[in-house]
Amino acid sequence: MKILLVEPNFPISTKSKNHSDFLPIGLLKIASYHKSLGDTICLNRGNLPSKFVPDEIKITSLFTYWSKYVKESVNYYKKLYPESKIEVGGIYASLMPEHCKEYTGCDKVYTGLYRNGKAEEYEPDYSLVNVDYQIIHASRGCFRHCNFCGTWKIEPEVTYKKTILKEIRSNKLIFYDNNLLANPNIKLILKEIENSKINDRVVFCESQSGLDGRILEKDPELAISLKKARFLKPRIAWDGSIKLKEKIKNQVEILKNAGYRNQDIYVFMLYNHNSLDYKEMCEKLEECRKWGVQVVDCRYRPLNATEDNYKPRAKSQTSKEYFIASNWTDNQIRSFRKAVRRQNIAIRLNLPEYRYIDGVEKKYVSCNLYQK
Ligand code: SF4
Repeated sequence: MKILLVEPNFPISTKSKNHSDFLPIGLLKIASYHKSLGDTICLNRGNLPSKFVPDEIKITSLFTYWSKYVKESVNYYKKLYPESKIEVGGIYASLMPEHCKEYTGCDKVYTGLYRNGKAEEYEPDYSLVNVDYQIIHASRGCFRHCNFCGTWKIEPEVTYKKTILKEIRSNKLIFYDNNLLANPNIKLILKEIENSKINDRVVFCESQSGLDGRILEKDPELAISLKKARFLKPRIAWDGSIKLKEKIKNQVEILKNAGYRNQDIYVFMLYNHNSLDYKEMCEKLEECRKWGVQVVDCRYRPLNATEDNYKPRAKSQTSKEYFIASNWTDNQIRSFRKAVRRQNIAIRLNLPEYRYIDGVEKKYVSCNLYQK
């Protein structure tokens, strides 16, 4: 079989294509799986002719609101190779299979992990991309069921690895786990990283997702294990209300006590969600400023949103163009983003009370005041 694997032309800048957040790791595992069956593989990152006329074309998908890029790829390859069978898998396909089939016009939609998780057993084929890190899954699924998250729908079965020792090939590991600390074997896995060397050099690691601080609170020793495993940029998820501030503060303290500096620690926050309004998000941001830690903000879009035309540089937009939660306004969304970025700069410069604009020191202004 000749199999063409396709990553659609997602709106990711060329220099970020190989960023660990966007690597089409599913396709790389499928590549290894099909190579093991003796198939010939080609990976196309975008819409361009293949090295061969494929028997099958497998197109991946990401966020539901990037569905139009999947459709563009299906159209492109249908025209180019009308005889080839086109299958779409990935996140959008798994969350909205009916929409995906009808909207993209593909021949088949594949939901969940490929070939019922069989491709999972294969190492990603890194020869198809040029990266200096390795993606690791030490677990699948998540035992929590947060209403804004699609993980537990896409990966309903929760599985944990006992070891990753034989998988380690790189000095830089990126965990793609949804809830890394939930793995009951996580301390052993971190110990393996602590003791590993590749090419006589130690191994560093980080996680694409935020850390579940409730687990950290139950077992603060985990923070020490993370630090010893050279875990970089720990990000605590704070999706709940301001009432949790003492708990989050405690989680930040646990990381600091383990040896992390303020500038190393991040708090992950979802905004533009009905559960918390602008005022409360500003209060949360203010707490992070007091603790001296940076914020990673994530603008919420509903799990079934099939488009998102938000333009960060636009002066204003309406809810016809992108999702604005009922208790948020376009102006508040833009103000909050600006406030986060400004505050992070101040934290990085170790000037939490101040900010710099064009080299001029200005007094820090909280986001409530910032919004006209
Ligand atoms: S803890 Fe994280 S991964 Fe798990 S369901 Fe909630 S948001 Fe999703």
